[in-house]
Amino acid sequence: MKYPRTVNRYCPNCRKHTKHIVSVYKKGKERAMNHGRRRVERKKKGYGSFPKEIFHKNAKINKRTLPVLECSECKKKHYAKSYRVKKFEIQEV
Ligand SMILES: [Zn+2]
Repeated sequence: MKYPRTVNRYCPNCRKHTKHIVSVYKKGKERAMNHGRRRVERKKKGYGSFPKEIFHKNAKINKRTLPVLECSECKKKHYAKSYRVKKFEIQEV
């Protein structure tokens, strides 16, 4: 799917329609000592099998792509509608 690089969208901070610059959301680096990581590390201690099941029966082929819109006036970011598509390109129009 093709998505334009700039879109005119409503900005809740400016409370009007402004020009937004589109980029794709990327997951940030996970902290090594977050709560879930600490819990898994505690469970993995000692004897026994791996505490969490490993998921194999994956029915969905494509991951969701989330476009991030950055307001060109206040520089705040908000999210647009996400899509499950094979290919997501940002394109100059
Ligand atoms: Zn704004």
